[in-house]
Amino acid sequence: MASLIIFGPPGAGKGTQAVELSTRFAVPHISTGDLFRTAVAEQTALGVKAQDYLDRGELVPDDLVIDLIRERLVQPDTQPGWLLDGFPRTVPQAHALDELLTSIDRGLDRVINLVVPDEMLLERLLGRGRKDDSEAVICRRLQVYHDQTAPLIRFYGDRHQLTDIDGSAAVEDVTEAIQAALDNFLPG
Ligand code: AMP
Repeated sequence: MASLIIFGPPGAGKGTQAVELSTRFAVPHISTGDLFRTAVAEQTALGVKAQDYLDRGELVPDDLVIDLIRERLVQPDTQPGWLLDGFPRTVPQAHALDELLTSIDRGLDRVINLVVPDEMLLERLLGRGRKDDSEAVICRRLQVYHDQTAPLIRFYGDRHQLTDIDGSAAVEDVTEAIQAALDNFLPG
């Protein structure tokens, strides 16, 4: 059982760590970015609404994201827990998650905050070559992170739910650091 959020700026390695951790803890990896990219590729109603935001490096409006996550968290595969990657990204989203978890009688075990300096993020994102990784869009995504998402560090920190992990280390070392930190917080 593990109900986790992997948090951090774009390029911090959330997705990479989430894949490994979801295998270790046997819980689904729920990435709102992946859900949006699939919706855009399939040109669903949601995808059509979200596309322009993704292309510009802006956040998709909270109500669309919250509807998406509400639908996903009631799927039966989330019974043993879940690993959220890329959600929440704004304070209203974090409040909505609280309400949602209360309404389905679930909790949150821990928020892992991957800490990586901006210079290294830029370098990694420029090397990644994703469609929304042009230099201007990358800079915008970092700015959006600092303006709208970083306040969540305080939000979860004040509630003593946050653990900082140095995300600049090698991938395997980051995974082990997360695992060691979580051993103190997970039930069982
Ligand atoms: P990611 O793969 O997590 O970097 O997300 C890619 C893009 O999807 C972001 O730049 C946003 O446009 C959108 N997105 C993903 N998650 C969220 C979220 N929680 N709130 C708003 N927009 C999101």
